[in-house]
Amino acid sequence: MLNKNGNIQNFIGCDASYDDAKIVIFGAPFDSTTSNRPGARFAPAAIRNDSQGIETYSPYQDFDMDGAPIYDAGDLELPFGDPQPALAMVEEAAGQIMTDGKTPVMLGGEHLLTLGAIIAAHRQYPNLRIIHLDAHTDLREDYLGQKLSHATVIKRCHDLLGNGKIHQFGIRSGTKEEFEWAKTHVSLQKFNLDGFAQLAQSLAEANAPVYFTLDLDVLDPAGFPGTGTPEAGGIDFHTLLTAIKALKQLKVVGCDVMELAPNLDTSGISTAIACKILRELLIAIL
Ligand code: MN
Ligand code: MN
Repeated sequence: MLNKNGNIQNFIGCDASYDDAKIVIFGAPFDSTTSNRPGARFAPAAIRNDSQGIETYSPYQDFDMDGAPIYDAGDLELPFGDPQPALAMVEEAAGQIMTDGKTPVMLGGEHLLTLGAIIAAHRQYPNLRIIHLDAHTDLREDYLGQKLSHATVIKRCHDLLGNGKIHQFGIRSGTKEEFEWAKTHVSLQKFNLDGFAQLAQSLAEANAPVYFTLDLDVLDPAGFPGTGTPEAGGIDFHTLLTAIKALKQLKVVGCDVMELAPNLDTSGISTAIACKILRELLIAIL
């Protein structure tokens, strides 16, 4: 159940009431299908805690989100193991927020949970488009026999949305079959975010509803090692920030920030980066 009555610790600056909020944050601490190194379950709490060390003011967007209409609902209580109940709870929470006319922002947790939010968003917006930033294709039909996995999540989203609705960027890891399949079913930009600005402009002109899903392992692990499946050769913070600012012009109906594993970077740098990215994302879609 979504908590509408106030939370003990919020992401910094996100102190509005549920009723007043335009954006509702919720945490989804779950990493049961994580294939390599677990820990994403710890991300929502770490992000909230470490957010107390960043400013509410963004010099990048010249905006202070102190007092902004953003409510932090705390974490969903997700059962571990079988991902089906967790997905259903994410779907319910995201759906409730959208039905109330607000924008859900999910803090993962592993990337599979995005599917729950996408199911809810697609129900409300049948012509939904997905912008997906990741090191990984996430287009496997199954992973070790499991159709619900963080390695299959975007394939499951395609099952719902169909061809030409999913736009992937920064992808640098996957099977040969996944890359081949992608050519005729999704748009996939390898290695970088080239073409992002043009895509954003065309989606803005079409006034298309957009779900933005950010797997933080799109970042270069040299600067962002705190993630379960690090892949060399990622993008840097400023490149990601440019893309986030381009979301301003779009009709973003939901988004998420996934796959931080704070326990895998005890320096705290990865969590600090995730906090700043979340701040910029919230301001961009406000
Ligand atoms: Mn990934
Ligand atoms: Mn992913």
